[in-house]
Amino acid sequence: MKITDVKATLLSFPVPKERQWRSDLGVMAKMDTVIVQIETDEGISGVGCAQGHVGVLKAVVETQLKPALVGEDPTMTERLWEKMYNGSRYQPSIDRGISQPGFSRRGDTLAAIAGADIALWDIHGKAAGQPVYKMLGATRTRIRGYASGGWAPGDEAEKELAGYAAKGFTAVKMRAEGRDGFSFEKSLRRIKAARRGIGPDVELMVDAHGSFDVSTAIRLAKRMEEYDIAWFEEPVSADNHIGQAEVRHATSIPISSGESESTRFEVLDLLQQRAIDIVQPDIAVAGGFTEVRRMAMLAHAYGVRFAPHVWSSGVLFAASIHIAMAMPNCHIFEVSQGTLPLIWELMEEPFEIKDGYVYAPDRPGLGYTLRKDAEERFPYIPGPNYVY
Ligand SMILES: [Mg+2]
Repeated sequence: MKITDVKATLLSFPVPKERQWRSDLGVMAKMDTVIVQIETDEGISGVGCAQGHVGVLKAVVETQLKPALVGEDPTMTERLWEKMYNGSRYQPSIDRGISQPGFSRRGDTLAAIAGADIALWDIHGKAAGQPVYKMLGATRTRIRGYASGGWAPGDEAEKELAGYAAKGFTAVKMRAEGRDGFSFEKSLRRIKAARRGIGPDVELMVDAHGSFDVSTAIRLAKRMEEYDIAWFEEPVSADNHIGQAEVRHATSIPISSGESESTRFEVLDLLQQRAIDIVQPDIAVAGGFTEVRRMAMLAHAYGVRFAPHVWSSGVLFAASIHIAMAMPNCHIFEVSQGTLPLIWELMEEPFEIKDGYVYAPDRPGLGYTLRKDAEERFPYIPGPNYVY
């Protein structure tokens, strides 16, 4: 089997004004994604997705990755990952067994590689007649989900989070900063209300999107401890691994991060700095199945758990199911509570989520098909996703 074509398609969903949510990231006005589709000479096609600066991603996929992939065997996923990552030096890189990437080896380049890699694994699974998670070595066929949202201001957090628990979720995540903005008292009031709403037995996580300095994060963490927080996510900037380690050492709350990290090299630094308890790479950002598997297994060697970041699109949700079913140290799965039809209405087959658990499909490849009318339904709209 040979690859014959690679293309990238931009999609958008403008969140209706009355359904927009605000956190420390700003107001989410729109969600964009890049769908990567790979065709072969045997009629098997694959779909992936990439998250980042969408115009840049499309250019990287079509001008850099497509020439590297066309003519290759799509089932040789490690070879193709090395070829995309190492560029013109891929051959000496493979021959010598060491990475030799070029200058633009991170960021949108990695996200574009992720999109292609997910599509290659979709093809690989379809060619073998197996779901991707079985190709990766399955650990489980279902995983506990957690409801991810929690933007309501003040005491309204009680009802919002209780509503997630009422859907059957045994773990829920809220934002450190809600629609009422940040102060210690505002955040703690919301967290207290959330705990009141869900009772003592549902796990509660808090996400700060890297918005605090080290001392603010430590002060907040210490005051959150009495509410039994299952993890404090991205307390400080993703570029501040040492600062994150300081926060971790100062609190009994487990620290999670990783949605902005790409490659095993960045996770290795977090692990070596003892900065992390749960690693959360996004498969459409960090390098696809091939790389996220390495990141998760590296974490496993340090006794660190893996909980993939799942937010943008139905293709990402599908791919994340497979990596979660495959990795032994994955303990929980993110289920977005934002208004995002790009997740729920992009694929033909519905996702199976029951009693707080997410189930694996038994169909080959990703097991989910991109809707034919995806482009008409979600036409690309230029402009930023978040407005502060
Ligand atoms: Mg997060």
